[in-house]
Amino acid sequence: MVLAQLGGTITRAIQQMSNATIIDEKVLNECLNEINRALLNADVQFQLVRNMQNNIKRIVNIEDLAAGHNKRRIIQQAIFNELCNMLDPGKPAFTPKKGKTSIIMFVGLQGSGKTTTCTKYAYYHQKKGWKPALVCADTFRAGAFDQLKQNATKAKIPFYGSYTESDPVKIAVEGVETFKKENCDLIIVDTSGRHKQEAALFEEMRQVSEATKPDLIVFVMDSSIGQAAFDQAQAFKQSVPVGAVIVTKMDGHAKGGGALSAVAATKSPVIFIGTGEHMDEFEVFDVKPFVSRLLGMGDWSGFMDKIHEVVPKDQQPELLQKLSEGNFTLRIMYEQFQHILKMGPIGQVFSMLPGFSSSELMPKGQEKESQAKIKRYMTMMDSMTNEELDSSNPKIMNDSRIMRIARGSGRHVREVMEMLEEYKRLAKIWSKMKGLKIPTRGDMNMR
Ligand code: GDP
Repeated sequence: MVLAQLGGTITRAIQQMSNATIIDEKVLNECLNEINRALLNADVQFQLVRNMQNNIKRIVNIEDLAAGHNKRRIIQQAIFNELCNMLDPGKPAFTPKKGKTSIIMFVGLQGSGKTTTCTKYAYYHQKKGWKPALVCADTFRAGAFDQLKQNATKAKIPFYGSYTESDPVKIAVEGVETFKKENCDLIIVDTSGRHKQEAALFEEMRQVSEATKPDLIVFVMDSSIGQAAFDQAQAFKQSVPVGAVIVTKMDGHAKGGGALSAVAATKSPVIFIGTGEHMDEFEVFDVKPFVSRLLGMGDWSGFMDKIHEVVPKDQQPELLQKLSEGNFTLRIMYEQFQHILKMGPIGQVFSMLPGFSSSELMPKGQEKESQAKIKRYMTMMDSMTNEELDSSNPKIMNDSRIMRIARGSGRHVREVMEMLEEYKRLAKIWSKMKGLKIPTRGDMNMR
C-alpha cells in the first residue's frame, strides 16, 4: 500500500533517534522534523502537522524525563497517540446489524470509485454471512447499471436496476421495496455521481435520501485529492447527512494520509479503505490498528479478520494452528514467500504483519531486486532436507549443512547465512503470535 512509504519514513526516523547514544532535544527535533516532512509530503494539512509536533514536545519534555526512563518508548507512544488523534474523528459510524434490514446509500463524485465500492462493501458482508443486495439508482451515467450488474453477477449478489427508467428516485424506492420483501439485511443504493459538485447532484441525492430513508449515507471519495478532501466532504455533508466515509485508491496515491486526516477533521468516520480494483482489495478502517501498521507495529486485529475473510475455509485451521504454536520453520517461510510472490490471498494476510509487509520485504522502487532475492532464498531452500525445513531450531544449521546448501544451490555461503538471518528475523515476529487467541467465525461480526 502506498502509505507504506509514509510509514517507512516515520519508522526510520524513530529508529534513527533510538540509535543515538543520548536522546536530547536536538535528536528529538531531528526526528520530529523528519516525521513532519513525511506527513507534509503525504499532503497532511500544515496546521495539523504543527499541532502534532507541539503536542509531542509538550508530552515528551526531554528535560523532565529523568534518566532511566525509556525515552524511545515514551516518544514512540506519543507519536502513536498523536497520529491516532489526527485520524480519529471522535465519533463512531452507525453499524448495521446482521439479520436486521439496513439501507445504506452511497454518494460521491463520478470516478471516485463509488460503484466499485458498493460491490466491495456488499461482497465483504456477504462473506461474513450477510444477505446484501444492490440497487442501481444511477441513471445519469450511461453504463452505470451495466457496470453494477456485471460486478454483482460476478459476486453473486442480487441487484436491481433499469435500462429504461430515468427517475432515480423511482428505481431506488422500487429496489429497496423488492429487497425488503426478500429479507435482505443490507440494501445498498448506488446513486448518480457528477464530474464536479453541482446543484443537480445534491438535489438528486436529497430526493433519493428522502424517499428511501437510509440508515446510513456513505460518502465515497478518491484519496488522490489529499487534503482537498476536507472541502469535498464538507460539501456533501451539508447536502445530506453523511454518516461515514470510504476512501478509495489508497493503493495508488501518495496523498492518502492527507485525505484520511482531512476527512477526520470534518468529524466523519472513515469505515473502510479501497486498496485496489479487485473485489477483495477493501479493508476495514480502524484508527489504532491502522497507525500500528503504519509504524511497522503490525495490525493483529486486521490480520485475524483477513485470515477469516480470504484464506479458504479448509486451510484456516492448519494455518491458525501453525500460528498459535508459534513455531516458524523454514518450510513455513518458503510457503509464505510463495504467497508473497503471487500476492494471493494469504500474501495479503501476511502483508499485515510487521516484517512480512511488502514494504519491508519489497521496498518501493526495489521490487525487482527484492523479488529476485526472495527467489534466490527459495532456490537455497530447495537444497535443504526435510529435517532442516521442518525444524524450528536454527541451531541445527551448522557449518557443514550451510556449505552443503550453498554447493547444492550454486550460491555463496554468505548468501545462505543471509537467508538464515532473514529466517531468524521473521521467526521472532512469528513467535509473538504464540498462544494467540483465535476468534471463531461467530466472533467476527462486523467491527
Ligand atoms: P464511480 O464513477 O464513482 O462509480 O467509479 P467506479 O466505481 O466506476 O470506479 C472508477 C475507477 O476507479 C474504476 O476503474 C475502478 O476500477 C477504480 N477503482 C475503484 N476503487 C479503487 C481502488 O481502491 N483502487 C484502485 N486502484 N482503483 C479503484
